[in-house]
Amino acid sequence: MRERGEYYFTLSVDGPAKIQAISDICSVDGADGRNVVCYANQQEYDKLLQAGYQPNLQTPPSMRANVTMWDGNGTYNWNAYLTYNQYVTMMQGFPSAAVSGRTCTLLDLGALSTSNHRHILGVRLNNGQPDGKPKFLYTSTMHGDEITGMILMLRLINELCTSTDSRIVNLLNNVDIFIFPCTNPDGTYYGGNNTVNGARRRNGNNIDLNRHFPDFDDGAHPDGQSYYQDEAQWMMDLAQQYLFTMGANYHGGAEVMNYPWDTYQPLHPDDAWWQLICHEYADLTHEINASYMDDYNNGITNGYAWYTISGSRQDYMNYYGQCREVTIECSSTKTPNASTLPNYWNYNYNSMLTLIEECLNGVHGFVYDAITNEPIQGVTVTVQNHDALGSSVSTHTIGDFHRPIKGGTYTFEFSKEGYIPQSVEGTAVDGQRIDLDTIYLEPILTQSVTLAAGWNWWSTNLDITLEQLKSALVAALPDTTSIIIKSQTQSISYNGSSWRGALDAIDIAQMYMIQVSASCTITLTGILANPDEHPVTIVANGNTWIGFPLDEDMSLSEAFGSFPVENDIIKSQQGNAIYNGSSWRGAFQNLELGKGYIYKSASQEIRTFTFGTSNNRK
Ligand SMILES: [Zn+2]
Repeated sequence: MRERGEYYFTLSVDGPAKIQAISDICSVDGADGRNVVCYANQQEYDKLLQAGYQPNLQTPPSMRANVTMWDGNGTYNWNAYLTYNQYVTMMQGFPSAAVSGRTCTLLDLGALSTSNHRHILGVRLNNGQPDGKPKFLYTSTMHGDEITGMILMLRLINELCTSTDSRIVNLLNNVDIFIFPCTNPDGTYYGGNNTVNGARRRNGNNIDLNRHFPDFDDGAHPDGQSYYQDEAQWMMDLAQQYLFTMGANYHGGAEVMNYPWDTYQPLHPDDAWWQLICHEYADLTHEINASYMDDYNNGITNGYAWYTISGSRQDYMNYYGQCREVTIECSSTKTPNASTLPNYWNYNYNSMLTLIEECLNGVHGFVYDAITNEPIQGVTVTVQNHDALGSSVSTHTIGDFHRPIKGGTYTFEFSKEGYIPQSVEGTAVDGQRIDLDTIYLEPILTQSVTLAAGWNWWSTNLDITLEQLKSALVAALPDTTSIIIKSQTQSISYNGSSWRGALDAIDIAQMYMIQVSASCTITLTGILANPDEHPVTIVANGNTWIGFPLDEDMSLSEAFGSFPVENDIIKSQQGNAIYNGSSWRGAFQNLELGKGYIYKSASQEIRTFTFGTSNNRK
């Protein structure tokens, strides 16, 4: 064991408190209340001995089994482990094995910096159009000697590349699937590239990767390391890049679904959903073999309730990665006899597909900008009175979001800096997909207008209050003793300390005359007003002060269309134009943002006008 750098042993204990104490020293791999199974490196092992523990050394799992290896010669029937080279060859061959209408892309997270430079490889599988779809992540064997899942993953990739079963076709059409069969190749091939005999739990630097991730309860480096191992850092980068909707990570040593949290006793906000999908997975395996995956509560357990650990990848993915990742302990024997591997495939196959299908259920939708009609990425979708501890999700590249959740009626709040938050009620149904109507968020705009000393003809296209305008003026001016704001009928003035007058609101349909003592720039913030909701009443035979509430400058003919009658006049602060029955004549031709105007009607009728022509809002 000394030369392997890793000790494998059992300890007898008398309760959870003791397990916690052991877990603080070394890696607890399993516990049944009276016995714990542990791994330790030399330093940890010495520490245990010093603390008075009496470890019962055991033959490491990977050194007990018949590990028939396949090196590429003959036909492979999924009943042998793969040499490292054959594993790489198989991964490299998947893209060309994908049948028509399917895209399989090889992903190489990099070569490990340890001496063998082994690669962490994965594939991305979809129908070539991944945008707008939930992403699912399968990984295995971050503990190098827990190898059953690696073979399951390789066989699943093969199936997803080649099977024309309608269920598989449906999955590839609707989900963007990522699979990484071996996320600790230095551990798996610790005995050399040609065998998994001698595989060890830890990576090439003797680190237990599943105690090594940032932990929301115990800090950035719960295992006391000073930097992240490549195997962990690359997986974190992947998680942040794609924000997987769901995932599962295969381990061995037990047969149970282990759901969040590992580090924290309070339940995950989606605990009811976790129990649902974990029982679903386990129950489907029981249809093939009733005595498989029946540890704990019929094959499922809360991680903390089983035995708590810090720095687990599951907790990282859930808390920091928006990914509902579950840990699947898929074989009591970590490295089972190679001839039995097809059995594990048979037990798990239906469950593996069903788990991917679960990310199509829950609540889905799209979020768009109400003004530009463009999708918004990075909108936080929070389930009110429900989400906590990283359980909210956010929108992806084309504004899509995917929120697995237990059946029930919820209020979903959509928020992003720069937008007015919006809430929508939705009802989720177990085992069904619910699509909300597209959400349109109003952007909060900032408008800066420069005023000249003296009188300014002003209007705005933002929904703002008079209070906002008053504050902006006072903030922008060194001398505030002679500010006046006039509408066509009312006014208000500032004497340096208080406002007097009857004007009490700002309407985007109207022009205001603002007097200031010096040139200044006022900055206003608000949502773009909807001109449709602010029609302008043009008085008969006289002057109406009008605003210009659109979001871009516009010519008179485009802005007023067929509204004018002959001899209507529009005045800006700089010049006039007159309508001759077919066109506007005069030096003044364009309406500008931030300016106000006087419309002089030649008609005997009161008329109503709406600026709505560039209005593309939703
Ligand atoms: Zn494990």
